[in-house]
Amino acid sequence: METVQALEVKELYCYKCHKTRKVKEFLGEQIKGVIRYWIYRLECGHIRTTRRNIPAMKLITIHLPPALIENIKLLVAMGRYASVAHFVRYAVRHLLWEEFRGIEKEKELIDYFVRRKIINKEALKDDQN
Ligand SMILES: [Zn+2]
Repeated sequence: METVQALEVKELYCYKCHKTRKVKEFLGEQIKGVIRYWIYRLECGHIRTTRRNIPAMKLITIHLPPALIENIKLLVAMGRYASVAHFVRYAVRHLLWEEFRGIEKEKELIDYFVRRKIINKEALKDDQN
């Protein structure tokens, strides 16, 4: 999986200024063969690309309602996501995180009631004596 998000890159070396510059904005990604390039505009105004090896990913094909696709494309056009694929990966990762967090909460809840039931049984024993 990705270790660094394109939007998390804060500083890059500018080969034209020969200085490290702050990243002003992320302009998007470009894929050539198996290499992904992230394109940034630096505070000096120069454009800088970084090369990222695409982590091992598998292609899946899904059908989505046209309205969802249009809304995703709108967010991409607004610059909130680098591409439709970037949006879908983010959405899937986020839902997986929510699901597994939900499972952990359910386990805590079950443990709580199991413990309470044990405590109540002990309380009943005390009442009988
Ligand atoms: Zn520069």
